[in-house]
Amino acid sequence: MSEEQRRAELEASLREVRARIDRACRAAGRDPSEVELLAVTKTFPASDVALLADLGQTAFAENREQEARGKVAEFTELRPSASVRWHMVGQLQRNKARAVVRWADVVESVDSARLVEALRRATANALDAGDRTHPLDVLVQVSLDEAEGRGGCRPDDVPALADMITQTGDLRLRGVMAVAPLGGDPDVAFDTLSKISERLRGDHPEAVEVSAGMSGDLESAVAHGSTRVRVGTALLGGRRLTSP
Ligand SMILES: *Cc1c(COP(=O)(O)O)cnc(C)c1O
Repeated sequence: MSEEQRRAELEASLREVRARIDRACRAAGRDPSEVELLAVTKTFPASDVALLADLGQTAFAENREQEARGKVAEFTELRPSASVRWHMVGQLQRNKARAVVRWADVVESVDSARLVEALRRATANALDAGDRTHPLDVLVQVSLDEAEGRGGCRPDDVPALADMITQTGDLRLRGVMAVAPLGGDPDVAFDTLSKISERLRGDHPEAVEVSAGMSGDLESAVAHGSTRVRVGTALLGGRRLTSP
């Protein structure tokens, strides 16, 4: 496919996804400006990020540190003056904290005290070394089912993790993130998440973000108060490699 063809394809899918978000907001009586679109570019090349940035997309997400690191560098060479934000949305090993804080503006997958501590230390070091200019925004990822292994802390663990994050000067608590359980009813999952978010905002009024909704369930997430949908397939097409 030529670059022109790919640009036309991405332009059409971006328009369609934005229209879905607009319709979902209207149906929920919400203003579309309340819901940010995060383009999940995992498994797709930096050239796609560049085309999406040309089309006005400003927020991108990746789920593997190593893949992201190279892609961010490549994108920065392709579009040196573009101003975009990068979000880490995948499970993160503590030993990747040092690397992730060099490219990520936001880490959405914070789910343990040990990861908070690793990110805190890595962010402080990166700020000292001049590798970062601003604190790291973080979301607490919540697991909405009993299944282990897909990341996320238990809902009961959110308050303690949130307190720990706000006690570190270099991390900024922005809200919660979740993935609807496979095969479950997304309305039930996102309703649970909205209650978790409400409780969190009681203690931490600044933690307003709710990152919820993907290609298949963004309407349900928007109906339940999502402020950020994370869309891969509906924007970029099917992924050849399976990516957790
Ligand atoms: C891949 C991924 C998405 C996007 O999923 P699609 O179904 O392709 O839209 C969203 N959130 C996370 C955490 C992901 O890993």
